[in-house]
Amino acid sequence: MSIQAEAPTRPKVERLPPLPPPDTVYRPMRKRIHLAFFLAFVAAPFTNLMRFDIPRQRFYFAGFELWISEFAIIFFALMFLMFVIAASAIIHGRIYCSYACPQMIFSEWSQDVERWGKRVAQKLRAASPALKKRVAQALFYAVLLVASVFLAFVFTSYFVEPRDLLGRLLHFDLVTVGGITGATVTLITFLDFTLVRQKFCTSVCPYGYIQGMLQDKHTLLVRYQDGVGEAKDCIECKKCVRVCEMGIDIRDSPFQIECVHCGDCIDACEDVLRKVGKPGLIHYTWGEAPKADAKAEPWYLRWGFRDAKRVVVLLIMAFYLTGLALALSLRRPVLVEINPDRSTMYTVLDDGRIANLIRLKLANRTGRAAQVRLWVEDLPGADLALPANPVLLQPGETFERTVELRAPFAADGQDVHHIRILAQANDARKADAEEMTFITPLKRK
Ligand code: SF4
Ligand code: SF4
Repeated sequence: MSIQAEAPTRPKVERLPPLPPPDTVYRPMRKRIHLAFFLAFVAAPFTNLMRFDIPRQRFYFAGFELWISEFAIIFFALMFLMFVIAASAIIHGRIYCSYACPQMIFSEWSQDVERWGKRVAQKLRAASPALKKRVAQALFYAVLLVASVFLAFVFTSYFVEPRDLLGRLLHFDLVTVGGITGATVTLITFLDFTLVRQKFCTSVCPYGYIQGMLQDKHTLLVRYQDGVGEAKDCIECKKCVRVCEMGIDIRDSPFQIECVHCGDCIDACEDVLRKVGKPGLIHYTWGEAPKADAKAEPWYLRWGFRDAKRVVVLLIMAFYLTGLALALSLRRPVLVEINPDRSTMYTVLDDGRIANLIRLKLANRTGRAAQVRLWVEDLPGADLALPANPVLLQPGETFERTVELRAPFAADGQDVHHIRILAQANDARKADAEEMTFITPLKRK
């Protein structure tokens, strides 16, 4: 007796008048956000919005040039950025990946270029299919090569001074460390956007895994919701699967680690089902148990602040941001350090004056030249043996040396005189004052 396989029951498609387009179509919105983040990514190293200058050991943040020794500011800046990333993952899941990550932006862009190359090749009506394929590939690789040089230049500019890097690029420098680094990054960029693309997000990227660990039951999800049996609205068109660049079927589960929450499957389902008069079956939802009337919820719930954990993360973020703002407001653009050098207590000079040694460190942490004037209080006739006063400092220059503080012998019966050494940069509102002692013999020798 043969057993006949039962044919799968196909859902009946009930034809209704088409629905108007949805309020939000995510892909074009995402492309606009991609453009904004791309411009920010390109502008950041050139405007010192954020950049690590490894050779010069500087960290640039929000236009400030921070020295590696400015621990407090760098600490607050890095902690703040870390909590921005953590808060984004807890509240919005992998939204960063699909809306802001350079890897995703350029992966999608390279796919667009590939499609464009094929469209251009198709216009060569007289050409054979093999020739069309070669033309499409040549166009794709040519555009990607130019783009890779540009992107590698921008990326390397986050770690090396951009003008210096441009000079190496224009001279085809493949000999120095900077030149070799630039060429290597170009090659990696080219291979990444021609061969790897979104595979990086699902196999290598550590941020994807960290996000997976940070998500909880209230995190934003892309979720497929349908009835069962006869009430099922899915028509099995599989457009949601075809458009998914991560290669998954969102109908299987909203918790797939590969899902970057891009919303392309939402657009695809809306596009298909609205033509037959039904709303799409895939939506952004807050967590596993979304409310049916989510639009009527208070604003803080609609913004994702759904439990105390999120409020705590935001408060910690606010704490580090406040610390960063305070540290920046207290920052001195020209660093002044004045310390006594007690390797000798005093020296009697040939002209009878007494000299003490002072260790002086002046550092110009700004991007323009600065002049620092130094003077001494409470020690009549004193002067500092400087090559010039004020001291001229070029941008980023450090003046560090031991100098003599000289003063006439004072027959006042004291060998320890309490004095102040002051230093003021040309654009500083007030002087730095250092209190110290000036040691002299009790009697003239
Ligand atoms: S696009 Fe919508 S209707 Fe089509 S298979 Fe996916 S969920 Fe079902
Ligand atoms: S399942 Fe949908 S939201 Fe997730 S990556 Fe694929 S297309 Fe984007």
